[in-house]
Amino acid sequence: MGKPTGFMEYERQSQREREPQQRVKDWQDYTEPMTEQEVQTQAARCMDCGVPTCHTGTEINGVTSGCPVYHLIPEWNDLVYQGQWKEALKREHEMNNFPEFTGTACPAPCEGGCVLGINEPPVAIRTVERAIIEKGFEEGWVVPEPPEKRTGKKVAVIGSGPAGLAAAAQLNKAGHWVTVFERNDRVGGLLTYGIPEMKLPYEMVERRVALLVQEGITFMTNMEVGKNYPVEKLQSEFDASILCGGATIHRDIQVEGRELKGIHYAMEFLHANTKSLLDSNLQDGKYLSAKGKDVIVIGGGDTGTDCLATAVRHDCKSLTQFDIYDKKGAVRDELGNPWPQYPIIHRLEYGQKEAASKFGEDPRAYAVQTTRFVGNEEGHVKEVHTIHVKLRIDENGNRIREEIPGTEKVWPADLVLLAIGFNGPEQGLLQQLNVETNPNSTVKAEYGKYATNVEGVFSAGDMRRGQSLIVWAINEGREVARECDRYLMGATVLP
Ligand SMILES: Cc1cc2nc3c(=O)[nH]c(=O)nc-3n(C[C@H](O)[C@H](O)[C@H](O)COP(=O)(O)OP(=O)(O)OC[C@H]3O[C@@H](n4cnc5c(N)ncnc54)[C@H](O)[C@@H]3O)c2cc1C
Ligand code: SF4
Repeated sequence: MGKPTGFMEYERQSQREREPQQRVKDWQDYTEPMTEQEVQTQAARCMDCGVPTCHTGTEINGVTSGCPVYHLIPEWNDLVYQGQWKEALKREHEMNNFPEFTGTACPAPCEGGCVLGINEPPVAIRTVERAIIEKGFEEGWVVPEPPEKRTGKKVAVIGSGPAGLAAAAQLNKAGHWVTVFERNDRVGGLLTYGIPEMKLPYEMVERRVALLVQEGITFMTNMEVGKNYPVEKLQSEFDASILCGGATIHRDIQVEGRELKGIHYAMEFLHANTKSLLDSNLQDGKYLSAKGKDVIVIGGGDTGTDCLATAVRHDCKSLTQFDIYDKKGAVRDELGNPWPQYPIIHRLEYGQKEAASKFGEDPRAYAVQTTRFVGNEEGHVKEVHTIHVKLRIDENGNRIREEIPGTEKVWPADLVLLAIGFNGPEQGLLQQLNVETNPNSTVKAEYGKYATNVEGVFSAGDMRRGQSLIVWAINEGREVARECDRYLMGATVLP
């Protein structure tokens, strides 16, 4: 344990952010590094408690509790406090191939499970995690580590999101030849074309992928398995395949006027923006611009927040985010959402801070349900009609949303972005391979085993689990590699 009295002496300070009014003028990382001394002080707040719930990732009643990749948090906090950064980095990489992705964009369920967090602000775990890996890159400690021996087995990984990248990295470590297929023009899945540049810069993905290439992994971009790479070829050329295609079917909204122009899925907006930004710094015009528009974002989650941050940077005229839920409390509900679960509380995320800095107030409207869209003579949306709703649980335990009469409202809108979640994976490739699915359309493969009903075909990440988090995708990617290695070799040394 670093400093026994650290948690009493120092206050929590988490990742520092650039001024919202300044940062919305560019697409650079919205955070800024802390000094080494500041990070060591934060690490000193760790109490090294006897049973560290922060690193025991699990789900309690469907809510993530602790770290899903079982990061050795008290160990690296102590090492950072002692100034032993290289040792801390070793501990990080033992459990997570890509701490830079989680250290940047993980919602940090570990902090929700921190023992200090029971009655004090928790240790700033994610901040320390990111500082360790960034120091590792700065010092040149992160180098390619190709396997000493090759097994001669060939594995195909379909999808280059965090699950596919983690699976590929681990299988390559075990000595197999790994090829990652990606239908997009760039590797990274939602790390690249979902989460925007200012939250997770593409340079970070590129930097890691360059190491994976040097370690011997082959990446084939613009290559959609099942379309321009036939499944017969996949099955004849590889000893095993791992499906990590994500959960990309958008959830839609079925109300009058849905067909109007100007209503788009959030992912159309975010993907096109990042591609145009990376291709041409938005000079090619191949993106949906929010400039000068009244923008309505429907959906109160992470995707909606990313839309806010993007629309602000386009210089929109107005910006509103609808949340179907009531405003959450400032502290967790001790009965319904007890420690060590991830706290379900009101948060002001980066996108909402930025919208507030431009328009003077938080852009969110709570307990709002869209009832219809109204268009102009050209068939373009001009208004969104809403009503307030309240949640009632009926005698059978069903959750029912009741409209509150007299709360109808009309909002001007030129651009509406639907960010209301995803319905599961695309089915085309799964059908071609005869892979069985669950009633909710995700791939049927047991957590911890990952084998599908088809011999030699495995699945992991959002495609198996449904839309989730980077850290769960990495956890599943690492574990599916272990199971695939066991299948290929009869035994495995992978964790
Ligand atoms: C807008 C947005 C913001 C998010 N923000 C966060 C966040 O801040 N923090 C967090 O922890 N999580 C966040 N998430 C969730 C997180 O990004 C996902 O849970 C995670 O990326 C899932 O990883 P994956 O590897 O399973 O799938 P994905 O990242 O979806 O990658 C799947 C890849 O497979 C490719 N693919 C699919 N089919 C084929 C095929 N047939 N052939 C070749 N390639 C194929 C796709 O093109 C895609 O690149 C966010 C999600 C979205 C949508
Ligand atoms: S990966 Fe996420 S949950 Fe795990 S230590 Fe990092 S921030 Fe916490």
